[in-house]
Amino acid sequence: MINRRTLIKNSVLGTLGASAALGLSGCGKSSMGPTAALDYDFQTGKPLPWMNWAKNQGCQPAHRIAPQSEEELLSLMTSTSNGGLRPMGAGHSFSAVVPTEGTLISTDLLNGVLSVDAEQNVAEVWSGTRLHQLGPALNLQGQALTNLPDINYQTIAGAISTSTHGSGVTMGSLSSMIEELTIATPSGELVKCNNSSNAELFNASRCGLGALGVITKVKIRTVPAFNLEQRTTVEPLDVVLEDIENEKASNRNFEFLAFPHTSMALVVRTNEVDTSAPIINSGEEDPTAIFQIRDAYQSLGVLPLVGKFAYQKIIDSAADGAATVTSGPSYTVLAHDRVVPFREMEYTVPAEAGPECLKEILATIVEKDIPIIFPIEYRYTQQDDIWLSMFSQRDGCSISVHQFADEDYIEYFAAIEPIFQKYNGRPHWGKLHTLGPQEFSNLYTHWNDFLSVRESVDPNGRMLNSHLKHLFGLGASSHA
Ligand SMILES: Cc1cc2nc3c(=O)[nH]c(=O)nc-3n(C[C@H](O)[C@H](O)[C@H](O)COP(=O)(O)OP(=O)(O)OC[C@H]3O[C@@H](n4cnc5c(N)ncnc54)[C@H](O)[C@@H]3O)c2cc1C
Repeated sequence: MINRRTLIKNSVLGTLGASAALGLSGCGKSSMGPTAALDYDFQTGKPLPWMNWAKNQGCQPAHRIAPQSEEELLSLMTSTSNGGLRPMGAGHSFSAVVPTEGTLISTDLLNGVLSVDAEQNVAEVWSGTRLHQLGPALNLQGQALTNLPDINYQTIAGAISTSTHGSGVTMGSLSSMIEELTIATPSGELVKCNNSSNAELFNASRCGLGALGVITKVKIRTVPAFNLEQRTTVEPLDVVLEDIENEKASNRNFEFLAFPHTSMALVVRTNEVDTSAPIINSGEEDPTAIFQIRDAYQSLGVLPLVGKFAYQKIIDSAADGAATVTSGPSYTVLAHDRVVPFREMEYTVPAEAGPECLKEILATIVEKDIPIIFPIEYRYTQQDDIWLSMFSQRDGCSISVHQFADEDYIEYFAAIEPIFQKYNGRPHWGKLHTLGPQEFSNLYTHWNDFLSVRESVDPNGRMLNSHLKHLFGLGASSHA
């Protein structure tokens, strides 16, 4: 019996040893060439260039500002006359939602928890607070967020501005947890909005791509702190999909990662446990293990006929293994380290279409012989009423394809994107896609409502960059 960790240590490395004995080590690079990361020179007298986490988006802004208060922010926004204004969070979006040659506004200094009301289950926090700061801060007050995304480096405002989500059929995205927000508009007003006051602005700015102003504070719904246990196993994908309705219903958080070119998936089930239960860590994941799987795939891939078979065997061998188990306070279990740079495209299809869509993606990878090993992530999120949320008015199944940052993603993503579109998928605003206003007007009932609110708060388009102008049908190229 081996677990996922042992799979990497024994099977993959063992096989690489065998490959080396056959004179195959280190060979068999995929046919996709490397994609260079952006590179900027520091220029004397100019602000630091900006780059995102994945190093596929960057800019040389004319100004970079980090206001320490709402007053300072408003004064800077109204006194800057040249170029656009773009709020930035932690730079963890893959799409060009941040870059500007005008003024880049960091919320790093608008940071921290303002208040926690454990009776009403609501906390007010500054917009630049990172999710990894929020977990421990809420926990001190006996509170927690219901759910988290895969990582916790994002700022709260950056995360909600793209409808960032985790997985769980009874849980909405982070945007759906917002009860009220305060936003500094480009005309220099500080506006509070919620369901009963400035409701249209609230509906637009809970997932507003930074196009309506700079969010300064949010009130977010919390729950009493709780502990989770996460169990991760490798299982046959067809068995998981056959039982998908039960899996969704019987686990608090359920997701899996399907291995292309194999019949297996890494299944992650997370459920609540008593806070008095002992904290378990049966082997912390090695966040760089994916490189070892890539080495195995590339080494074995050069063996005619048997290569794919041997690769399948490696992944299969993990299926007999014991689960990797971690437990503890919810915020320590839900988010993971992601240190291997990659590029990502994610679409959310209607929940019921998830299994068919995934099967078609996996079949296409095999048919077209696309040399991809990065597992495909599969998650569920509950619907909400937010105008541009990927989960607006329908429960969603989010499926993500990834490629290593040093390999070309374009050919792979171009082969998969039409499948997402066939299933009526909505792209994640923070991830790569090629859609424009025509498609969005068909995908979102409130598309035109969003455009009207945007126009009314920013008639001169000061909050736009070329990517947003493209998305909103105001000219300019996609920048994607
Ligand atoms: C390794 C990795 C893992 C990820 N995992 C997940 C996941 O599990 N689930 C998921 O849904 N997504 C995931 N993402 C995507 C990520 O959550 C989103 O792209 C998110 O928006 C990034 O937040 P950020 O703080 O980095 O904001 P940025 O990327 O810096 O900005 C995102 C958007 O928010 C706007 N913005 C930022 N601050 C403000 C503000 N104060 N007021 C108004 N607008 C603002 C920006 O203008 C921009 O439009 C992942 C990304 C990476 C790189």
